[in-house]
Amino acid sequence: LIFLGIESSCDDTAAAVVTADRRILSNVVSSQTALHEAFGGVVPEIAARAHAERLDLVVEQALAEAGLGLRDLAGVAVTAGPGLIGGVMAGVMCAKGIAAGAGLPLVGVNHLAGHALTPRLTDGVEFPYLMLLVSGGHCQFLLVRGPEDFTRLGGTIDDAPGEAFDKLAKLLALPQPGGPSVEAAARDGDAGRIALPRPLLDRPGCDMSFSGLKTAALRQRDALIAAQGGLRERDRADLCAAFQTAVAEVLAEKARRALAAHPVPVLAVAGGVAANAQIRAALQEVAARAGARFLAPPLRLCTDNGAMIAWAGIERFREGARDGMDLVARPRWPLDQGAAPMLGSGK
Ligand code: ATP
Ligand code: FE
Repeated sequence: LIFLGIESSCDDTAAAVVTADRRILSNVVSSQTALHEAFGGVVPEIAARAHAERLDLVVEQALAEAGLGLRDLAGVAVTAGPGLIGGVMAGVMCAKGIAAGAGLPLVGVNHLAGHALTPRLTDGVEFPYLMLLVSGGHCQFLLVRGPEDFTRLGGTIDDAPGEAFDKLAKLLALPQPGGPSVEAAARDGDAGRIALPRPLLDRPGCDMSFSGLKTAALRQRDALIAAQGGLRERDRADLCAAFQTAVAEVLAEKARRALAAHPVPVLAVAGGVAANAQIRAALQEVAARAGARFLAPPLRLCTDNGAMIAWAGIERFREGARDGMDLVARPRWPLDQGAAPMLGSGK
């Protein structure tokens, strides 16, 4: 059973071919980073046009690299939301065209489900498991009990950590994306010199907040500039180290609580922020203490890609899911509609 997966919900145009026995035959990602660079963020109209222009080529390349034609496929999966609506629509239309033209089943996939099911593709993890999805746009703990059974245990009430890393980099005049440059600067830093808060740790449950952390970092930066007339290399390093440590500690403590409330055998991460070594190490330690296995998929499967969409499509398909030509693109699409409270959360 072989699926084509198509992803176009943000600034990556991606297509991949994946088999039900977990082989990734191709995984093509065309990044739009260069197109949006001058604007300091993703411009939805530019993204939508670029997706529309690139989708056909990316799909063709994914099939060519897999050495397969449309007739070898069992179905087409596509991100149907959440995301920038123009891009999602472009992907859904592309997938509908292929499905209708080749007479293939169509399966719409929630982008977040794609991320959340990735450990099953990479490591064959069994349900249930805990997933921390932590990226530029998202931050949430999910209890994953089935291909369509997700319970949100908590998440950020404002910025996602990746966004906070990006904003900190901007404040310190470090290159974008901020995550890697903050991590690099933090390597020479002293995390203990500059005090930053640990937002929401005093509140029970798994909700998080990162915008206050960014504001506190801004204040510390301005205080240093006022006192010294400028920022030294060392100040940047210390601020980055303090910031990264604060994020790592908050994520680790919230993960500890999630595992305490739901003792499952695996803690997995996905999203670009999962690339951060200090954050990984902190989560790894929490998992080990709880007797759980820690799993971080390879980075190219942690960030947006078509393979996770093909895989989530296969999982839904095996459950009997089929979508028709009336499949709609949804800008907003929470994984679990009900806001499930955290049961018996540790304090
Ligand atoms: P989403 O996929 O949720 O829509 P996105 O496309 O912004 O959002 P990703 O591509 O998964 O998310 O991740 C990009 C984010 O990850 C950026 O904000 C980036 O700064 C952050 N990031 C990347 N590498 C690191 C790192 N080493 N440390 C911290 N953050 C990082
Ligand atoms: Fe994503």
